[in-house]
Amino acid sequence: MTTAARAAALRHTVPTPPSPLHLEAAYGAHNYHPLPIVLTRGAGAYLFDDAGRRYLDMMSAYSAVSFGHSHPVLVQALTEQAGRLAVTSRAFHTDRLGPFLQKLCRMTGMARALPMNSGAEAVETAIKAARKWAYKVKHVPEGQAQILVAEGNFAGRTTTIVGFSSEAQYRDGFGPFAPGFASVPFGDAPALEAAITPHTAAFIVEPIQGEAGIVVPPAGYLAAVREICTRHNVLMICDEVQTGLGRTGALLACDHEGVKPDGLTLGKALGGGLLPVSAFLARDDVMAQFTPGDHGSTFGGNPLAAAVGHAALLLLEREHLVQRAAEQGAYLMAQVQAIAHPAITEVRGRGLLVGVEIDPAFASARAVCEALMHEGVLTKDTHHTVVRLAPPLVIEREQIDAAVQALARALRRLKA
Ligand SMILES: *Cc1c(COP(=O)(O)O)cnc(C)c1O
Repeated sequence: MTTAARAAALRHTVPTPPSPLHLEAAYGAHNYHPLPIVLTRGAGAYLFDDAGRRYLDMMSAYSAVSFGHSHPVLVQALTEQAGRLAVTSRAFHTDRLGPFLQKLCRMTGMARALPMNSGAEAVETAIKAARKWAYKVKHVPEGQAQILVAEGNFAGRTTTIVGFSSEAQYRDGFGPFAPGFASVPFGDAPALEAAITPHTAAFIVEPIQGEAGIVVPPAGYLAAVREICTRHNVLMICDEVQTGLGRTGALLACDHEGVKPDGLTLGKALGGGLLPVSAFLARDDVMAQFTPGDHGSTFGGNPLAAAVGHAALLLLEREHLVQRAAEQGAYLMAQVQAIAHPAITEVRGRGLLVGVEIDPAFASARAVCEALMHEGVLTKDTHHTVVRLAPPLVIEREQIDAAVQALARALRRLKA
């Protein structure tokens, strides 16, 4: 037997273990299309694959990893709390929830907070609060409350939420959908005002649309929405699950226009990149609509989530990450613009939430992301034509430089 034949025979009898990638493909639902890479470790703005290769994370798990991967302060808060008390349900008080909610309300200027887990749950909570407020306070006839949303919105994947999406794929095959929603063009304040009826309970809006492709509304839009909502006694609810907690260079993206909403959803970064932690926050008379038994969540507000969420908020202040996002974001945007490649048709965003529009005649945004992976940078396209650049807020200048150089090389590689 030749060496080659013996090796071939051995390969036959001793199958190599299937890779985690193939196991996912074989046993998982195919509801994602991940890049072909298997990550095993993260530290700060870096991720490492199973071959030990290092990548810059320019996506931060859709903005959930604002503090970088496994921030030691947050990991310590997590492990200490996990060893003491993790989950109790809300049937009892814990020493962790009150202080977390106090910190959250004081930082955001909202009166009360209701903790949930995912962003979609926070938005569902907002919908329930707005409807009940409309019936009990605004005296909208029972069953008639209407909620306005913006075209291009993304608020999660529950059946109610995809029911008011304008994205055909998010809806296809999942109906029938809940009634009581209508949409208006994003960034168009007069269109909002025209759509308001006496039955309108709330307008739910992202200050910058993230999943729609980092869409920034015209200056003055949020302030105009605030004024219109106040005049018509309609709740302005800002979905800041993605834009909140410093991502755009302000604590809340609403702060850029000095606007205070009546309701606010937070998620993603609130869990410090370690756990799903979300919240619906609101003014007093809105949150007062919930009475015991109206709403809840087995895991929402558990002491482990509260400890990590609280530590994340303290860390945000201690490391001045809001200011950092503003400075690093402006630098990132300027550097990407300076690439001046003809395939880049627009660079937009605010803070460290940046979208790079790629001319589809040149390449798909997915192809750019694949090329970026080969250059040691990980990110995800959004809406086929936009490359999202949303690194952890702790990213350093040199890392931004490296990411921008990688983008320039990836574009050159695609041309070749
Ligand atoms: C991601 C996102 C959500 C949904 O959060 P999940 O944790 O995925 O349920 C809601 N709103 C906005 C603006 C988001 O970006």
